[in-house]
Amino acid sequence: MVYKVPHFIDGSFIYGSGEKLQIFNPATSEIAGELDVADINLVNQAVESAKVAFQTWSKTSPAFRAKFLFRYKALLDQHRNELATLVTQEHGKTLVEAHGSIQRGIDVLDFACGISSHLKGDFAEEVATGVDCYGLRQPLGVCVGITPFNFPAMIPLWMFPLSIACGNTFILKPSEKDPSCSIKLIELAKEAELPNGVVNVLQGNRETVTALVQHRDIKAVSFVGSTPVAEQVYQMATAAHKRVQAFGGAKNHCVIMPDADFAEAAKMIVEAAFGSAGERCMAISVIVAVGEKTADELLSVMRPLIAKLQYGPGNQAHVDIGPLITKEHHQRVMDYIDLGISEGAKLILDGRNLESLAKQAGFFMGASVFNEVTPQMRIYQEEIFGPVLSVMTVADLDEAIHLISEHEYGNGTAIFTRDGYTARQFADQVQVGMVGINVPVPVPVAYHSFGGWKRSIFSDIGMYGDEGVRFYTKLKTVTTRWFPKE
Ligand code: NAD
Repeated sequence: MVYKVPHFIDGSFIYGSGEKLQIFNPATSEIAGELDVADINLVNQAVESAKVAFQTWSKTSPAFRAKFLFRYKALLDQHRNELATLVTQEHGKTLVEAHGSIQRGIDVLDFACGISSHLKGDFAEEVATGVDCYGLRQPLGVCVGITPFNFPAMIPLWMFPLSIACGNTFILKPSEKDPSCSIKLIELAKEAELPNGVVNVLQGNRETVTALVQHRDIKAVSFVGSTPVAEQVYQMATAAHKRVQAFGGAKNHCVIMPDADFAEAAKMIVEAAFGSAGERCMAISVIVAVGEKTADELLSVMRPLIAKLQYGPGNQAHVDIGPLITKEHHQRVMDYIDLGISEGAKLILDGRNLESLAKQAGFFMGASVFNEVTPQMRIYQEEIFGPVLSVMTVADLDEAIHLISEHEYGNGTAIFTRDGYTARQFADQVQVGMVGINVPVPVPVAYHSFGGWKRSIFSDIGMYGDEGVRFYTKLKTVTTRWFPKE
């Protein structure tokens, strides 16, 4: 039976009459569900509901809003198995990975629970005789969040809890490929007594996004997705005078110094490159081996680990790697492997036709590794977003830093070394927003902030943490003078 995924407007779950889109189970390739694309009428209804709710919600105290967030957090904790099941069912990643992503989302909710401290502002007494000055952080109004398919619970949780904690109201437009988590998240918010209109959810695609981003009553847009769309949404939103943060794609390099702990590095890189089938914006997609022998040494440790990886539906206990999201995306990744071969890279591990996958009907693909990749190749320049790892060799650390800094993307990077000075030089000089030292996927914890550089981001304010509070509030500075009574 094909399920239907509703919208959530003004406290009610509703269905519209827009274009129908299918949702697949990527582990079986079967059509599992469908949604209808929110058209301009539904967009107008959602914006109106959020606008009306803002009048009241923005006047509640941060402590009142935090009480809701605490109730919500307790419910998310209680229902994390259901959420993880939905992530696995529609995205395909393993249950372990799904649980990890939900925890990361809940961590940001945890941060948002402390909103009273984050909004308390600053005060300077006696800036001139009898004059004081203080800063207020006030909410913006109705904010929009547009999210990608690869973290259907975590990325919405990066956005709306903090936005509403700051006193805004919110409209979430989740990915049309795995929208069911958004509905579970909102059901739980309703159960936690979130007032109607504070968060609305619209299912849809480009049509819905365009109508939302250009709507006159939307004040801010948070976007996470691919770079071409991030750039488009950024341009559209800024042209309409919205505040916008748009996070895009990535190509994350991992430098291996000759003194690295190869056993530890290999273990972590296999997970960082192929976990979630490589569909992570912080996945390691390029190894930069420093020195003549490093690549061979590392690959000799990695090969048996890769050979042991188990593929299959993400809800099976022994599985390490689930399917890719859609048939089209699977084909796109396969095409990149053909391209790499034609560009002259050496395909040393070919995951395209694994025997163990022959009987699987889903969009599965094994781990592939290219060696002798060069900066001129498109498989190096472009984001593949699948289980495909490139290996390159450079002479020294300076060359590694230069290579990485020249790449158009600048989301994450990592270095494996036992030398503190080398690590410090790397962290200081590399032109990338998030850096790991012997940590391959350096996603910052919730009380720091997430954000890449270069074409991995359009705007200069990161997600969650202090940057998130800054994004979802506007600063007002009040200078006061009081006269004595006559
Ligand atoms: P996508 O860009 O195709 O879609 C993202 C969102 O934009 C979806 O909600 C989609 O409905 C909407 N959309 C798609 N095309 C649109 C258009 N032309 N106009 C307006 N809206 C449109 O991305 P995806 O395939 O869902 O996600 C994968 C991408 O997201 C990868 O490139 C990955 O690196 C990136 N990503 C980045 C981060 C980060 O923090 N930098 C995090 C996760 C994913």
